[in-house]
Amino acid sequence: MTLRKIIYMPDPVLRRKAHKVIDFGKEFQGLVDDMIETMRQAPGVGLAAPQVNVSQRLIVIEYGENEEEDEDVVKKLYVVANPEIIHTSDTKVKGVEACLSVPGLAGEVERYTQITVKGQNRRGQLLHLKLEGWTARIFQHEIDHLNGILFVDLAERVWKPKEEEVLQAD
Ligand code: ZN
Repeated sequence: MTLRKIIYMPDPVLRRKAHKVIDFGKEFQGLVDDMIETMRQAPGVGLAAPQVNVSQRLIVIEYGENEEEDEDVVKKLYVVANPEIIHTSDTKVKGVEACLSVPGLAGEVERYTQITVKGQNRRGQLLHLKLEGWTARIFQHEIDHLNGILFVDLAERVWKPKEEEVLQAD
């Protein structure tokens, strides 16, 4: 496994619509492993392939619901290729987001409270995920990356967080 370099705004790769994953072979498996390692090392709760300069529809997420309140919570790792939101809740909720590709900024973004995501796992098998809470928010943030959208595009307010304000970035 190799750590990949995270690219920052205004790199044009972050603004591109990423390509569908078709080949789940050796090179792709290496990318998945590298992205997991890069996300953990950053550290971040999620990472999309365009953030490591690869324009492919692949996201990795590792998060335990309520992990900021409970350190012992079991984190769940998701690897999803070609993710697609196929259902959303009627309700939305505001929350503060940060991004590894937009260092030094935070913003309040409105997201669906629950979503259903269709995609493929790292072996190419079909996957259906019903997600809620912060996990649903992270998925929406990562899927936006595959369409060239950054949280600062959606945020009502963007600010520079103070050092003591601990934020999870993805
Ligand atoms: Zn991000």
